[in-house]
Amino acid sequence: MPEGDVVRRTATRLDEALAGRTLTRSELRWPTVGAVDLVGRTVLGTSPYGKHLLTRFDDKRTLHTHLRMEGSWRIERTGTPASHGGGQTVRVLLGSETWTAIGDRLGMVDVVATRDEHTLIGHLGPDILAGDFPGPGLADARRRWDLRGADPVCDVLLDQRVVAGIGTIWMAESLFAHHIWPWAPAATVDAAVVLMTARKLMGRSVASSGGSRRGAGLGRQVHSRLRQPCRRCGTPVAVGRAHKPPHERPVFFCPSCQRP
Ligand SMILES: [Zn+2]
Repeated sequence: MPEGDVVRRTATRLDEALAGRTLTRSELRWPTVGAVDLVGRTVLGTSPYGKHLLTRFDDKRTLHTHLRMEGSWRIERTGTPASHGGGQTVRVLLGSETWTAIGDRLGMVDVVATRDEHTLIGHLGPDILAGDFPGPGLADARRRWDLRGADPVCDVLLDQRVVAGIGTIWMAESLFAHHIWPWAPAATVDAAVVLMTARKLMGRSVASSGGSRRGAGLGRQVHSRLRQPCRRCGTPVAVGRAHKPPHERPVFFCPSCQRP
């Protein structure tokens, strides 16, 4: 599942293609918004929030999309065969004279008044990659973290209502960085230290051309390295589970460096 770093890079690419441009084509292939027509609207820009994307238009409306498990946005030059947007899995097409953005396998598509965006993302914790996160965001996240103090820290890091943007990759990497057993009660873990590490690792990924999505493996110490030697101690990397069925998520960790 794409995490906040991938979502942030996606927003940047969407802005490069569409910000400030007027739409000449709009197709929302999604039951609840299929009738919405955005042709003639100018794109103000796309903002990431956690794993969500908010594309705002000059008529005070917002297109909300989420990549969920395997969604992606790609940019094609308008008029090329690739920009036509064929295919069963294409959910959104936004075209300008120059570029066409194609949202494939998206997991959520909504259109709301911009002033009502909070109805879609208001339940989320602070965005870990937001510019002001180290200040008010971190304080807010710590308050939310404390309410979940008895729960395993791996679950709390994945809970978008505590902090928005972290998924299985950066949860695992942040815990490994501090030798923390993933199932330790959150109350026993220094939230600020772990969250600021997650932010640093994700920020590095945003700045790189590789990324967490395509498996470039940038900075990965444990995630998706099952049975490979720990880079610190050589013990084979193990995998456990966060959350309860049917919402289990993998947690990669080193059984030696991250003991209970
Ligand atoms: Zn180790």
